Amino acid sequence: MPIFKLYRYIQRGAFSILAPAFLITVSMLALLGVALWQERRDAWQRADLASANLLTALAQDIGGNIKQVDRGLQITADGLAIPGIWTYPATVRSLILFAAGRASPYRGRAFVLDSQGRLIAGSNREPPLGASFADRRYFTVHRSGGTAGAFLSEPLDSRVAGEGRSLVLSRRVTGTNGEFAGIVGATIPLRSIHATVSSVRSGPQSAINLFTLKGTIIVRNPPLPKGATHNIYGSATFDHMLREPAGQFVGTSAIDGQERLYTFLRPAGLPLILDVATSTREIFASWRTRAGLYGIAVSALCIAVMTLSFLFRRELRRRADSEAELGKLAATDGLTGLLNRRSFDAAIAREWRRARRTQAPLSLVIIDADHFKAFNDHYGHVAGDKVLQGIAAVMQASARRASDQVARIGGEEFAILLPDTGARDAWHFAERVRRAVSDLNIPHRANSEGVVTISIGVTCSVTVEAGDVEAFMNAGDAALYLAKNAGRNRVADTAV
Ligand code: GH3
Ligand code: MG
Ligand code: MG
Repeated sequence: MPIFKLYRYIQRGAFSILAPAFLITVSMLALLGVALWQERRDAWQRADLASANLLTALAQDIGGNIKQVDRGLQITADGLAIPGIWTYPATVRSLILFAAGRASPYRGRAFVLDSQGRLIAGSNREPPLGASFADRRYFTVHRSGGTAGAFLSEPLDSRVAGEGRSLVLSRRVTGTNGEFAGIVGATIPLRSIHATVSSVRSGPQSAINLFTLKGTIIVRNPPLPKGATHNIYGSATFDHMLREPAGQFVGTSAIDGQERLYTFLRPAGLPLILDVATSTREIFASWRTRAGLYGIAVSALCIAVMTLSFLFRRELRRRADSEAELGKLAATDGLTGLLNRRSFDAAIAREWRRARRTQAPLSLVIIDADHFKAFNDHYGHVAGDKVLQGIAAVMQASARRASDQVARIGGEEFAILLPDTGARDAWHFAERVRRAVSDLNIPHRANSEGVVTISIGVTCSVTVEAGDVEAFMNAGDAALYLAKNAGRNRVADTAV
């Protein structure tokens, strides 16, 4: 409903009770909406912050540990450049090459391969020296000059029993003439990375993932569901994480189809992607419960407010109706339903003032039943009452304008106020009423006409010079007196 229309309703009082109740209801709902919207935003911001913090901490841990493995490799490579290193006793050489790298919590096994891919030194007894790893990509990539710095392999199954799946970090060893002289490498068992990732708790629907840039899942917390894919390369979420070095977005998991808030980065600039994926359902879980509870409570309150105000309005209307009914009873005559004397006095005073103000003519018609005492005496009071009702009906039918006011001002006396009506029109009107009453043909033996008749006095405000409403009324009475004296059943007019 347009605002101006609502305003008119309020002005007319139709909404006097409902309007405030409606406003309260709308305000409560609006407040609820704003509060819930803010809470929802807060829940999102908390999740956003929490996942960003968790991601940063994990990335520092994982990235730092892998970097430390790399530093160990560089020390090994430096050690290989020491002149005569191969002439040292094996234990001393091992200390020089591998002791520093042991400090890294991620390092599994460090090793040196010659240019043919054969093992020439290792931090562990296994595998035996001379074993060939020429087929491994972490070797061939350096031999073919495919990478300059450190190379991190895809997860692979270690050939050393008990080591399990591992990543291998490798660096090229360059000979004195700049030729390819083999590689130094170190394994990073996935279980050590897993220990880091599973040291934090995530919600049951949320997940932490570490991928290679080829989309292979290195570790996941919680562990991958059985039968789930180990590689999500080409999925929308992975594409997103591949496009930017770090960021945040909402996406659908390629692993289990859940919608999650993904926060991701590449730890320490390594060719790995770490993400914290928080289930959007989990983010809003407690908010949703609360929103439901608040919603029900506030709706119940709103319904209560509206119901109460409806009941209140109904009660008020009932009262107003009965007051109006009482007012009507007080203003009308019980026998005929016409205005009573009191209402008539008020009406004539009001119309008189209006006529004076607007200079419009106001006519007054006063009616009295002829020989009515005799009628009562002969036909009885009840029959007399019926006649009075009949006369009233005739008058009401004759007064066609809404502004005409018909009243019973005495026992068998009536009056009709005709606003905006001149003396001549009033006389014609009176004549019509007189004829209509005699046309009722109600037998009246004591009346010389043989039927019930009325006498009528007519006066008009324009003829009552400088007088007041009392003079006006008296002029009407005088006209009636004239009609009676002239023989009854006629209209007399002081104005003509
Ligand atoms: P006229 O006016 O022609 O001079 O004679 P009248 O007999 O009508 O005059 P009067 O004013 O003396 O009598 C009025 C009578 O109207 C008196 C009473 O019997 C009768 N009357 C007044 N009020 C009622 C009423 O409410 N019901 C009935 N049935 N008669 C009423
Ligand atoms: Mg009379
Ligand atoms: Mg009378």
